[in-house]
Amino acid sequence: MSNPIKLKRDELSSNYSGSEHYDLVIIGSGISGLSSGLMWQKNTENKKTLIIEKNPYPGGYSTAYERQGYVFETTQLFPDIINMIDYLGVEINLKQFKGNFMRRLVVENNDVAEYKIPAGPENFTNYLCETFAEDEAKIRRLMDYSLDMFKQVRKLKANSRLKDKLLIPFQAPKVVANLNRTYSGLLDKFGITNPKLREVMETFTSFSGVPSDRASAIMATGAMLSSMTRCFRPYGFFDEFPAKMAQLFQARGGEICFDSAVEKIEVQDGTAVGVRLKGTEGVIRADKIITTVDPMLAMRHLVGDEYLPKKYITRLENTIMSVSSINVALGLDENIDMSLLDLDYPYNVVSTGLGTAEKLFDGFMAGDNAFTESCFHMAVICPSLTTGGKNTVTLRCTPFALHKWEEWRNSDKAKYKEEKERWADFFIGLAEKYFIPGLSKHILVKDISTPATYARYSGSPSASLYDMASLVTQFGPKRLPMETPIRNLLQPKFSHGLYGTMMNGVQVVDLLLNRKFNNGNSLFDPNNQSPITNNQSP
Ligand SMILES: Cc1cc2nc3c(=O)[nH]c(=O)nc-3n(C[C@H](O)[C@H](O)[C@H](O)COP(=O)(O)OP(=O)(O)OC[C@H]3O[C@@H](n4cnc5c(N)ncnc54)[C@H](O)[C@@H]3O)c2cc1C
Repeated sequence: MSNPIKLKRDELSSNYSGSEHYDLVIIGSGISGLSSGLMWQKNTENKKTLIIEKNPYPGGYSTAYERQGYVFETTQLFPDIINMIDYLGVEINLKQFKGNFMRRLVVENNDVAEYKIPAGPENFTNYLCETFAEDEAKIRRLMDYSLDMFKQVRKLKANSRLKDKLLIPFQAPKVVANLNRTYSGLLDKFGITNPKLREVMETFTSFSGVPSDRASAIMATGAMLSSMTRCFRPYGFFDEFPAKMAQLFQARGGEICFDSAVEKIEVQDGTAVGVRLKGTEGVIRADKIITTVDPMLAMRHLVGDEYLPKKYITRLENTIMSVSSINVALGLDENIDMSLLDLDYPYNVVSTGLGTAEKLFDGFMAGDNAFTESCFHMAVICPSLTTGGKNTVTLRCTPFALHKWEEWRNSDKAKYKEEKERWADFFIGLAEKYFIPGLSKHILVKDISTPATYARYSGSPSASLYDMASLVTQFGPKRLPMETPIRNLLQPKFSHGLYGTMMNGVQVVDLLLNRKFNNGNSLFDPNNQSPITNNQSP
């Protein structure tokens, strides 16, 4: 009999001392919570810090789990966050995808166009110019502009003061010009009208389930550059990343209380003073509290509307949370050689043509989904090609809404199972047709996550995968701010993905330390660390 698989995430245990008071309490041990905790430790001394996590292990949405001898993962792509993990001292063995970032198939009637999108902006530009030679001049102008715009984002401050605001038009004119522009507006600006070229460019918006005519041009450009500049994945399973962060946090004196949900953020006279855990009476008091959970959960449930100004409640009500997903994780037998199928990319994607993202997003906004045989978007990932573990394939299908999934899961198990299987078969059929011939014959284990799974696992009331949707109407100053209306309660939500969540830690700690860590910069600046930086080692 083979040994049971031990995941790194399960090597962690609580080291909560039971103290009644902390300098800082962080709610959630996902990558946002862990990066906040580690950034804080690097820049302070002798502070009592506690992370509270409802699950028995760290990682939140970035995790791995075992089913019948197979290990499956949620996250797949490790973006270019190397300077931040080096700064924190997190050591992790990563494989860099040096060739292509994505293999993308676009299905139009009976035609299938294939694109192999290379990693790195320069390679990407050259590839586009070769593939769409007639549009070369436009492509080069767009890519130069995009790189320059992202450089200007670096000049912005995370929480602008009056002086910063006055400087923005001079330091970052391209950011100002694009604040209200959608990604499709940006493509229009450069005269990119070729539908096939647009499909390829829109890869980076459809990824987060948002159509390019609603996605923020700046956020989509940032997502493109941060995910493709250098892309990696761990040689081990993905839970190793949060596990290493949590181990480091504990080794440096931080406490983590696992398997304990915060039920209430205690507010007195408009100030957050502590948290109460589910099933307990006492309050863990804290000078400062950072929440990294879904903002609707944090503000409307853990704080409660009675403590919030009406204007803020309206803002919450008008905030659109991001999409949910169906994820089909498959364990395959050994009679298939995955290495022969040209699947070793961070992502393989198959979708129908231009307009698909819009239709799928409309379906999500209507509260359900709009997938059909002639309208789909699916990512296919083969982690075992890197981990060397037993053959695994993950099918990621976005966007779905929570819809009736929770109701079925709670009160009609048969219907829940039937719907799960129906959608899994649909997506397995697509994967079989476009990427893995004969796939269904090789499946030994099938694990299907639905929006109800994500809601239960993360606590997000809408089962959102990526926090606030990256719509142009919710970008920059229009996003829920890090400073909440409750004094001493901070909610860092730079954006989603591992890049965004690491940046959450940078921004919130910088705010707590009055810019003494990152000089108020919106993005991490390794050259701008203040002298108080304390190079602790475990
Ligand atoms: C299936 C999937 C695939 C993805 N793939 C990628 C990818 O390949 N690359 C990439 O960069 N990004 C990817 N993402 C996005 C990325 O994983 C997330 O943006 C990121 O992990 C979010 O981290 P977070 O800490 O902000 O939130 P979360 O991970 O949601 O962490 C919040 C934590 O708070 C805990 N919590 C909730 N309620 C409470 C409570 N009441 N008390 C205490 N604790 C609580 C939760 O258990 C959780 O651990 C993916 C996301 C999903 C869901």
